[in-house]
Amino acid sequence: MENKRRAEINEKMFCHCCGKEIRMRYGLPEEGVCTVHTDWGYFSDKDGESHEFVLCEKCYDDITSRFALPVKVKERVEWI
Ligand SMILES: [Zn+2]
Repeated sequence: MENKRRAEINEKMFCHCCGKEIRMRYGLPEEGVCTVHTDWGYFSDKDGESHEFVLCEKCYDDITSRFALPVKVKERVEWI
């Protein structure tokens, strides 16, 4: 029962900034999302912790527009 409930929760994805639910199909997001994962190291105050969060595209655009330097953008080759 507990495992089933946990699986249902895992199928949902939310933007950590605005709380919006990200539409999912077959376990994959149906819209653009930014997933950030960082492993904090020795020179941080969070040594040994791994942090992860998801942003919807709108929140990503809002946050990155406030950066002092622009985000690095590279063209990707799409493999069909
Ligand atoms: Zn958002």
